[in-house]
Amino acid sequence: MNKLAERSDLDPHLNLSHWQQRTELACAFRWAARLGMHESIANHFSVAVSADGREFLINPYGTHFSRIKASDLLLVNADDPTSLDRPDAPDITAWALHSALHRNQPQARCILHTHSKYATALACLADSRLPPIEQNSMRFFERVAIDEGFDGMGLGDEAERVSRLLGDKPILLMGNHGLLVAASSIAQAFDDLYYFERACETYITALSTGLPLRITSDEIARKTAQQWLDYPGFADKHFAALLKILDQDEPDYCH
Ligand SMILES: [Zn+2]
Repeated sequence: MNKLAERSDLDPHLNLSHWQQRTELACAFRWAARLGMHESIANHFSVAVSADGREFLINPYGTHFSRIKASDLLLVNADDPTSLDRPDAPDITAWALHSALHRNQPQARCILHTHSKYATALACLADSRLPPIEQNSMRFFERVAIDEGFDGMGLGDEAERVSRLLGDKPILLMGNHGLLVAASSIAQAFDDLYYFERACETYITALSTGLPLRITSDEIARKTAQQWLDYPGFADKHFAALLKILDQDEPDYCH
């Protein structure tokens, strides 16, 4: 029996691609935990399953990233607050923020939100721009929106405000808060999350020396960013490698 047949009782919207999204999102959670990008039982990842983005999968409140399984993910509706009327409902800020984002940015199929250490450190600096000092930071040159208007937890008006800041950028660096990544696929979003955190780690480490930074010209940074964008299949190969490791080490993630 294949996984679709095994899980056909989960919900009426289920199809094979939907199950694939569940397993991929579960993989993203587990790898975020493996890489130390989680924070207790907070933070949230979602992926849109309907064309308009209003129906999406998100993690249940209280489950640690390292234990999330494909079947744990909740199918919720951005327009329907009764999505929260269940014992394992998403965190209220998660539902508000991801609902606003999926409503207002339907092109952003996968949205990952973390308080990962180095991106959050960057979000705490008065100037939260990431200068082009090495290939990973150049990847994000002119591709980061910065929220400078933090106004409390991501509920109600604050969720709506934040959801409109992303524009066509893949990264929203949330000042005084953390990081939000949006992409057209789970693999691309996770790759961006990984590399943005790496770039921030290198930048914060370089800053900690107190020595002058070797910042490239805008021209070189722009060229390198484009080379990243043109690089064939990188995010998909990266994510396929992560899935393969979990298949061997933690096969229950896709249950
Ligand atoms: Zn947060």
